[in-house]
Amino acid sequence: MLYDVNGKVYFDLISGIAVSNVGHHQQHVVDAIKRQADDYLHLMVYGEYIQSPQLKYAQLLTSNLPEELSNVFFVSSGSEATEGALKLAKRFTRRTEMISFQNAYHGSTQGALSMAGNEELKNSFRPLLPAIKILPFDSVTHLEEITESTACVLIEPIQGESGIRIPSEGFLSKLKKRCVEKGALLIFDEIQTGFGRTGKLFAFEHDGVVPDILLLGKSLGGGMPLGAFISSRPIMQSLTSDPALGHITTFGGHPVCCAAGMAALEVILKENLHEQAALKEKQFRNLLVHPLITNIRGKGLFLSLEFESEETAKKVISTCIEKGVIVDWFLFAPSCMRIAPPLTITEKQIETACRLIMKSIQQINEN
Ligand code: PMP
Repeated sequence: MLYDVNGKVYFDLISGIAVSNVGHHQQHVVDAIKRQADDYLHLMVYGEYIQSPQLKYAQLLTSNLPEELSNVFFVSSGSEATEGALKLAKRFTRRTEMISFQNAYHGSTQGALSMAGNEELKNSFRPLLPAIKILPFDSVTHLEEITESTACVLIEPIQGESGIRIPSEGFLSKLKKRCVEKGALLIFDEIQTGFGRTGKLFAFEHDGVVPDILLLGKSLGGGMPLGAFISSRPIMQSLTSDPALGHITTFGGHPVCCAAGMAALEVILKENLHEQAALKEKQFRNLLVHPLITNIRGKGLFLSLEFESEETAKKVISTCIEKGVIVDWFLFAPSCMRIAPPLTITEKQIETACRLIMKSIQQINEN
């Protein structure tokens, strides 16, 4: 729940855009932050000394990931995770071409922005990185564009800002196969889909396709700023030579952020919030039925309600907010409305929030 300056109460159905997966005042997270703040804050540029909050969180993360994703490089944001991963792929493969997909969003810094699949977002900032190919999402025939010149292919296993698109069954495994054949690294951006949001701890678990590099951010820090790119030891090791410091970050893996993130992951695991997300999805789908809703896409608590026009979507979003339900739009899907609440949302809260959404839709329908 959120409260404005006048004391009005809101249901938060977007989690600060997929950040507050364990809610806004999770006691275990708050306690961990206080404990770490009492102990020490920033000590040194990341990686120069081994610090226990970073080490412990990396251990907890990797113990919940496939064996090959064993090396964690903490950074400060999702965009920086994308930057680090692109550099890692170039350095490891000694190639320069990079591939991403239409309507993808991977961050706002110039490297990450270069990989965005939306021209409008990029045009005013050109020249951006060269040698980037943007392919249609979910098109098996276009996988031929991945060649021996490709350093990496960057993809969200479930695309977010396009209004939540799940690739067809088998697409990700075909993509992986092609990458392996051509020696290109496969990078999964799970900055938005991570930490239980889609009903599994990580979205790649739905298809069982393991990437060479995994990007995390948003809820990784439990509400504090933190990002990470994760890979195998042989790949990650390439960042330690030529140059010796392949990616330098002062605040990456800030000890307070790592302590908070670790506490948040402990809550998700202990309370099985990822498994509950799948059940809560059903409840949303059952309660949100109206002729104005033309489609509901998504998995778990990562949902997109589609309306027949941008105008309707905008009106529904602002009416919901007026009625005390915070929902939002997507970057590249103007007729859609975002629903991505904290995973801790209760059945009763879903019921009340959905009733208010239905009231809002009804009101738009009548006017
Ligand atoms: N990748 C994805 C899929 C995202 O949703 C975002 C943030 N919306 C980013 C990368 C960038 O993360 P940040 O804003 O922390 O830089």
